[in-house]
Amino acid sequence: MAMKIILDECLKCGACVMVCPRECISEETDDGGDVVYIVDESKCTECEDEGGPQCREECPVPECIVKAE
Ligand code: SF4
Ligand code: SF4
Repeated sequence: MAMKIILDECLKCGACVMVCPRECISEETDDGGDVVYIVDESKCTECEDEGGPQCREECPVPECIVKAE
């Protein structure tokens, strides 16, 4: 159970990083030197103790953060 970030939708605003209670969203640099935001799916709980994904509530793009398959 985890969320993931659709990189093509991400505005790279960083808002999700600040609100994640598990600190499992990180800013990284991909092979091409671009900044990307990644959820560590091994740590993400979908915020079940917080009433739902806090990152998705904070994200300005509606379909950017979705359930990981
Ligand atoms: S759902 Fe919660 S724990 Fe998972 S990445 Fe988003 S804010 Fe973090
Ligand atoms: S809040 Fe949404 S748009 Fe902003 S960095 Fe996180 S996933 Fe990307």
